[in-house]
Amino acid sequence: MFDAGTGIRELGKNMVASGCSGRIELFLSHVHWDHIQGFPFFAPAMKRGVKIQIHGLNSQERTLESVVEGQMEGPTFPIGLKQMGADIDFQALEEGVILPLESAAGSPWGSVSCARLNHPNGVYAYRTVEAQTGASFVYATDTEHVEGQVDEVLVRLAHRADVLIYDGMFTTEEYPARRGWGHSTWNEGFKVAQAAGVKKLVVFHHDPNREDDSLDLLQRQAKEEAKLLDPSIEVVFAHEGMVIGLGGNS
Ligand SMILES: [Zn+2]
Ligand SMILES: [Zn+2]
Repeated sequence: MFDAGTGIRELGKNMVASGCSGRIELFLSHVHWDHIQGFPFFAPAMKRGVKIQIHGLNSQERTLESVVEGQMEGPTFPIGLKQMGADIDFQALEEGVILPLESAAGSPWGSVSCARLNHPNGVYAYRTVEAQTGASFVYATDTEHVEGQVDEVLVRLAHRADVLIYDGMFTTEEYPARRGWGHSTWNEGFKVAQAAGVKKLVVFHHDPNREDDSLDLLQRQAKEEAKLLDPSIEVVFAHEGMVIGLGGNS
């Protein structure tokens, strides 16, 4: 799992309903509120016998653990991290390390690696590769491009991935007034996809002020524009509950 915003609540309910047990790997891009505030409401974390390994970036100011624990301290939340039931552990990740992952049954599943991108307080983007199929995707949110440049760090991480999930919070018209906020546009994600040989760009981290209708409109415009730029790259806007197939059946 990547990040623990409010969406993790519904996911957790579904996981418990389908008999979730065993080990959960949670990779946090960073610890801004919108990426951790669902965790206190993540039902599997309340269950004994569940092991949750949380991976991420220790910031200069505080460790990952102290931030996640801190948001659950009284008086802002009644149950502390250590009283949640599950066995919760933290692991700081280093750039360049390829972390092997196992399936729930304990057999090798694949790997995760990370790269640091450009966001206030720091952020990691992640790449997963499933060993058996080679299917891969990159999750790169909360990152700001440098104008006139393509982010080479992200291009390397995303090299020939099946899917790139990218921060498209702003339009190109909105961006100049939001410079330094740590977010980007779908157009910049498209450039990364082109440079990295990625054929599917999933635009994520929509501006919370947007209505569904305006997102539909933006998606239509993006698809039309993308078709003219490079018809081999598909652009879609992420929505809650979206399922994306990997490895040729997407
Ligand atoms: Zn952020
Ligand atoms: Zn964010």
